[in-house]
Amino acid sequence: MGLLIKNGQIVTSDSTYVADIWCENETITRIEKNIKPPKGAEVVDATGKLVFPGFIDPHTHIFLPFMGTFAKDTFESATIAALCGGTTTLFDFAIPGRKEDPVKALETWQGKANGTVCSDYALHLCITRFDAEVEKQLREVIARGVTSFKIFLAYKGSLGIDDCELYNTLRFAKETGTLISAHCENADMVGEMQKALLAAKKLGPEYHHDSRPPLVEADGTRHFCNMAELLDVPIYIVHLSCAEALREACDAKLRGVKVRIETLITYLLLDKTYAERPNFEGAKYVMSPPLRDKKNQPILWNALESGLISTVGTDHAPFDTTQKSMGKDNFCLIPNGIPALEDRVRMLYTYGVCQGRLGINRFVEVASTEVAKIFGLFPRKGTIQIGSDADLVVYDPAYSSTISAKTHHINVDYNPFEGFAVKGRCAAVTVRGHIQVRDGEFVGQKGIGQFLKREAGVK
Ligand SMILES: [Zn+2]
Repeated sequence: MGLLIKNGQIVTSDSTYVADIWCENETITRIEKNIKPPKGAEVVDATGKLVFPGFIDPHTHIFLPFMGTFAKDTFESATIAALCGGTTTLFDFAIPGRKEDPVKALETWQGKANGTVCSDYALHLCITRFDAEVEKQLREVIARGVTSFKIFLAYKGSLGIDDCELYNTLRFAKETGTLISAHCENADMVGEMQKALLAAKKLGPEYHHDSRPPLVEADGTRHFCNMAELLDVPIYIVHLSCAEALREACDAKLRGVKVRIETLITYLLLDKTYAERPNFEGAKYVMSPPLRDKKNQPILWNALESGLISTVGTDHAPFDTTQKSMGKDNFCLIPNGIPALEDRVRMLYTYGVCQGRLGINRFVEVASTEVAKIFGLFPRKGTIQIGSDADLVVYDPAYSSTISAKTHHINVDYNPFEGFAVKGRCAAVTVRGHIQVRDGEFVGQKGIGQFLKREAGVK
């Protein structure tokens, strides 16, 4: 057996060339011109097509209890959608409640995923409390292959931690060579602004933005960077949305803080007017930090192309319109989240590469290679080279379509990019040499995805 990807234009973060790729025992074993397939080998003709390393989403919420309900996807539905869109590995977040144990949360998330997940996956673990017992358990979590943690400066009283906990979390990360990421918003400012808006009877989804304006995010970003500078430890900022927060993070970079920045496909292409749509339509576009004024978009694109921003994720969190209506009379009760897992790659390709905002190698870098490098999966994932997992996306750039909830694979009744034209689709997608997608549809085996164990040691 074995799989031959024939005659495609291979595109990695640092090179573009035409060759054949031979995959055996789930890995890439040869990259040459004119490889003759042995008898019984599966051959995918990639002539005229692009061959990318499997894309990696650094930020998804598939199993997600939030505001008394659960996000709609299962690991099966989400990873089928991810694969149809070219994402072969994703990072979900195991989130213990403040009173729950980290090891238990890890086991809960793995229990939901293992046996049903169709792509490979890794987990970040959220630290929602920090004390001696949690510290002990985190060492066990690291031993089980989770080496990145997330803290919330927002959501005080539920998931958020205080500054003493933040200090000790960063100290622990430095000692163990693990990476802390943060949701950067000043929780107290958000709380007061929500109260003021509600008191003024400003209740609709259009007010969500004003309850957490750019300065709130900038303040949280600066705070996180200052703490990292104090302890001299690398950090990662999730879902950065605006110029104000970017300037704070870049100021920290200039001071020598090792800060990596993630933005989201939604911030690059949608703006706050979507959340202002009438008749509660705007609720579909409520997430935190909120969609911003359009003037932020060119700044984010430029930062992405120039290397100031390292990665593009989705923060995929699918709540349907019934769930969103929990906040009909109070925007604070709208479940936060926009589903984008399936469309990240083709939206970034269409509006980044095809429109000249992003070079094609940089596109691979921000949507795959950098994620693998930052979170300890490189070179197993994130590139096409001998010895890497045979996670490949054969992309047909000539195909054109329009995004619609009628044809998407995620388990939610709307698509935030409804009506957007997109260029290209996945002609074939492989996970460790198994063909999981052909012509944009899932044709593979369910449940073959693996949990990816990682080792500590942040660079
Ligand atoms: Zn998130």
